[in-house]
Amino acid sequence: MNQHLRIEPVPFIDVAAQRRRLGKSIDEAISRVLGHCQFINGPEVAELEAALMAFSGAKHVVTCASGTDALLMVLMAKGVGRGDAVLCPSFTFCATGEAVALTGATPVFVDVDQETFNMDAASVSRGIATARQQGLTAKAVMPVDLFGQSADHDAIGAIAASEGLFVLDDAAQGFGASYKGRRIGTFGLATATSFFPAKPLGCFGDGGAIFTDDAELAAMLRSIRVHGQGSDKYDNVRLGLTARLDTVQAAILIEKLKIFEDEIAARNEVAERYARGLGNVVTVPRLAAGCTSVWAQYTIRLPEGTDRDGFAAALKAQGIPTAIYYPKSMHQQTAYRDFPVADGGLPVSERLSEDVISLPMHAYLDAATQERVIQAVRGALSS
Ligand SMILES: *Cc1c(COP(=O)(O)O)cnc(C)c1O
Repeated sequence: MNQHLRIEPVPFIDVAAQRRRLGKSIDEAISRVLGHCQFINGPEVAELEAALMAFSGAKHVVTCASGTDALLMVLMAKGVGRGDAVLCPSFTFCATGEAVALTGATPVFVDVDQETFNMDAASVSRGIATARQQGLTAKAVMPVDLFGQSADHDAIGAIAASEGLFVLDDAAQGFGASYKGRRIGTFGLATATSFFPAKPLGCFGDGGAIFTDDAELAAMLRSIRVHGQGSDKYDNVRLGLTARLDTVQAAILIEKLKIFEDEIAARNEVAERYARGLGNVVTVPRLAAGCTSVWAQYTIRLPEGTDRDGFAAALKAQGIPTAIYYPKSMHQQTAYRDFPVADGGLPVSERLSEDVISLPMHAYLDAATQERVIQAVRGALSS
């Protein structure tokens, strides 16, 4: 009987549904920018930075052109470069380690925890030892709030403090989440996020931001954002980038931030429905004590021996898209395989790369559509 029904494709992330909800407010925000024509550094940029400060509790927010630039700018500001090591999880999006390598420093890849997919503190300690054995100076740790869940910031902060390293939190997927009741954006020296459209808080193009309580760092980041300019605009005092956030994107983000809290709640409901519907057939994601998630991805682990490609094909045949984040951990990728990994290897990252798969997740996934996804997953596993 089902064959006679037209199969409606389910969107993986429904940007259009959010666009419908925001309706005229986005059009009007863009129109205001078209009216004043301050496309670079218009009033909306400072307005957004103030709104992000209020939302996160960070003392300074510096918006920028992308999440990758946000990471790179902090590393540049801290003078990280050749001969330095920065500890990064290997099971992450490539930009985490890429930003380190772009400075000339060496990313040292460490393993993740198999329950939370986030940086494993014991592996960080081993990675610091590995860096020293290789004659590198360990400078920083970059935890990632992967798939939207806060990393274990106390554990990582404690190691960083005892080893004299600074912490740069890669919250490109985790902005809006919290750790022990405090919002992401206030852990470590600085936090970087991305406003790429598919991130939990996305704009309509590329964008990013840096959060810090350190006034001196914030001032340096504002200089790096514009080619390292000094107080005399014709005397550039350091190397920088063209890394500003467009005014139009800031205007869009101001409107989106107004509904973000509500969207986070909706994403958590979707995650709870998945956990109830799938918890007894696959390994569903688990939140660690004190951690919340904004569910940038809903990533499950398939039972041992499942043919992942066959599983994805079975869902696709029913109009349900899936994605694999990440089929290769960073240390397994061509551009990164010569960088060091923490002593003892990265067995969890490698195993996760083989058995994870992500399901449709967004704030507008209604219960009926989600039930289709749940039944398709259950059906694919029992056949
Ligand atoms: C998306 C992402 C980035 C990079 O953000 P862009 O805005 O695309 O440059 C960095 N780190 C992680 C973990 C990401 O998911």
